[in-house]
Order: sequence, then structure tokens, then C-alpha cells
Amino acid sequence: MIAEIIAVGTELLLGDVLDTNSRYLSQQLAARGIALCHRQTVGDNPARLEAALTLALSRAELVLLCGGLGPTPDDLTKEIAAKTLGVELCLHQPSLDRILDYYARSGRMMPKSNQKQAMLPISGGVVFPNDHGTAPGCAMEKGGKRVLLFPGPPRELIPMFESYAAPYLDALADGVLRSHYVRVFGVGESAAAEKAAAWLQSENPTVAPYAKDGEMYFRVTARGDTAAEADARCQPTIVELLSLFGDAVYGVDVDSLEQAVVDGLKVAGKTVATAESCTGGLIAERITSVPGASAVFGCGVAAYNAEIKHRVLGVPQDTIDRTGTVSAETATAMAQGVRALSGADFGVAVTGAAGPDPCEGHPVGTVFVACSSERGTEVRALSLGSRDRAVIRTLAASHALDMVRRALAIGQ
Ligand code: AMP
Ligand code: MG
Repeated sequence: MIAEIIAVGTELLLGDVLDTNSRYLSQQLAARGIALCHRQTVGDNPARLEAALTLALSRAELVLLCGGLGPTPDDLTKEIAAKTLGVELCLHQPSLDRILDYYARSGRMMPKSNQKQAMLPISGGVVFPNDHGTAPGCAMEKGGKRVLLFPGPPRELIPMFESYAAPYLDALADGVLRSHYVRVFGVGESAAAEKAAAWLQSENPTVAPYAKDGEMYFRVTARGDTAAEADARCQPTIVELLSLFGDAVYGVDVDSLEQAVVDGLKVAGKTVATAESCTGGLIAERITSVPGASAVFGCGVAAYNAEIKHRVLGVPQDTIDRTGTVSAETATAMAQGVRALSGADFGVAVTGAAGPDPCEGHPVGTVFVACSSERGTEVRALSLGSRDRAVIRTLAASHALDMVRRALAIGQ
């Protein structure tokens, strides 16, 4: 089954509103293994909407439209869709009752214009109730084609999709589709894709590489008659990827490096504390964004200037005078210092030049990351290049988290 999405709204073409609905709907189709070949955006213009839909129906069996289901005369999506597909709209009393009730609950009278929202494809269609607004959505069916309509506001579209459209699409899909994610840190995207080239050709499961913020992951997706069968089809490929990438894999089906670190610390019954210069608290922020982090996180010190590094973290003045604040020695002393200060099992520290200007003669992107534990202190010297400040900070924080999760793995 081939699908197409059409986002309707002049505000989208003007760039006033970001089309997040298309992204959401794309992800939902992908999760069900429904092939999406085209997306269109069209303004609130009946002739152009009709042309866009006619084109979509010429090359797809399933068309998802969002936007333009409001009560005003420029909200025309449903009327154009019914006309183009040749489906009749009739008053759907349960929907009208819901809209009347929606207004009654907020102590208002329903404007007459809202009545058109209850005009729906009763034969040759399915109504998707709107639990968060007035405009119902629907599916229209004719001659093997299906057109699904959703309201524009994401806070209405998403719950409507989850409650009513997802079961509708699941019933159309052939079998069950399951995806698993193998997450890798420290291997570049092209190198990783090259390494896994043979698997990228596979069809069931399919394997797709993704890169984001210096990290990458492989999505392994298989279809089966049952979830267990689809999972079993994914398993050999996951095992192959694990052996191919070894300890660069930080988790399968985990959300993020910080999630892997928090989970790993919990399992080991250990704690961590952070001392951050150029990341200014980013590592602590990422760790504490994981629910339940309080069980494993001692404290975070954003030690930006040299005096605090010395006074709070106990970095010897002599180390700072001799090697500067951006050095392996200072990173080491910061990690040891915060570990002693907090009593945590692991102390992790970052100091570096995030840019835009060089720092103490070090080029932008020079970062030292240290991880201290009872086994000693390790330091990573990074040259992240003269990239964007935000990218350098994110990568530095990711390396710090990676060092903790590796130290944990060794300790077990
Ligand atoms: P509409 O249903 O077309 O009247 O849209 C109502 C509101 O929903 C718009 O003003 C936007 O704020 C929002 N909206 C419409 N389409 C989209 C979209 N594709 N992605 C995100 N928000 C949207
Ligand atoms: Mg609109």
C-alpha cells in the first residue's frame, strides 16, 4: 500500500507554522510499514487542493490530509475530498451532538457555522471523533482508495490518530511490524554505514542507519504474523550488529546515552557526580532529564572559572598555573575533586574550548574529558574541530556520558 500526505494551510506555506503534523503522520506510517512516496503542502485554495488530491490519488491508495476542517468558509478540505473522491457527505447526528455538547460544557452556544463540521461520509466512510476539539476527522473510501482527514491542531490530531486512526490503519496493514534500535557512539555515520553495508540491503528485516548529534543508530524492522515472529526475525541482525560494533554499542532499545548511563548505574548500584567547565551543566541536565536519576546522581558543579575549579573542586593551584584550565591534568583533578566532594562512585569532568574564540591558546574544539573511579582516572583528549559551539558542547557531554558507561561496563 502506497501512501501520500497532504498538509493543508496557507500558514504552512508562509512559514508561520511549522508542519509538524506531516512529520508525525510520516512516522506513524513508517511504524506500520506503509510506504510513503510523496508529501505535499497546499494553501487554503479549493482549486489547488483539488489538484493536489487528484495527483495524490493517481499514485497512492491511501491519502492522509490534515488541516482545513474548521468551521469557517476557507476550511474546505472535507468538501473538496468528498467531491474529488465522489463520496457524499450527510449530517452525522452523533458528531453534531458532540459539538453541541462541547459548546454547552464551556457555557457557549454553538455558532451555526460549526454545523458543517458534522457533515461526514456516512456510507463509504468511518468517523474519527475529536476528543479535544470540535472538528471530527474521518476516512472516506471509494474504488480501492482511502482518504483520511485530520484537524490541523496537533493537540487534536495526535490523540485522534492514536485513538481512532491507528486501529483503522492497523487493520489495513499486513501482519505486525516491529522495530528495534541499536545505538552506537563514537563511530562516524559513513564509517558505520560502510561497515554494515551488507545488512542495509536486507528486506525482512530492513536495516536503516540514522545519525544525530554525533551519535548514530540502526533501526532494524521486521514484519511477521505476530509480534513474536517479527521480533525473532530482527534478532539475528541485532546480534550481528552487536558483534560488528562491539563496545561502541551503548544499548538496544534505549532512548539515549544518558538513559544507558542511568540504567547502568542503577543496575550496578553506583552513583555519579559531574564537574563541568565548557559544558556548564549540560551533562548534569542530561542525566537528570532521565526519570529516576535521583537514585544515581550525586551533584553537579558548573565550575566555569579557575578560582571555583581550585576552591570548590580542589584542583591544585599549581596544576592550573602549570597546565592552564584547559588540560588533561585539570580535567583529571576536576573529576577526582567532584568525586571526593560528593562521595559518588564516579566523578566525570569536562574542560575545553567551545568557541567561538580559542581558549588559552587551544583551538576551538579542544576538549578534555575525565572519568574518575576507585580504579583510577581516565582522560580523553578530543579535537572536535571548529564546529558550532552548541555542537561542541553536546559532543563533549556525550563523550563524558560514554566514558561513564564504559567505566561501568569494565567495573562489572
Ligand atoms: P486548521 O485545522 O487548518 O484550521 O488549523 C488550525 C491550526 O492548526 C493552525 O492555525 C495551526 O496552528 C495548526 N496546524 C495546521 N496545520 C498544521 C500542521 N501541518 N502542522 C502543525 N500545526 C498545524
Ligand atoms: Mg487552516
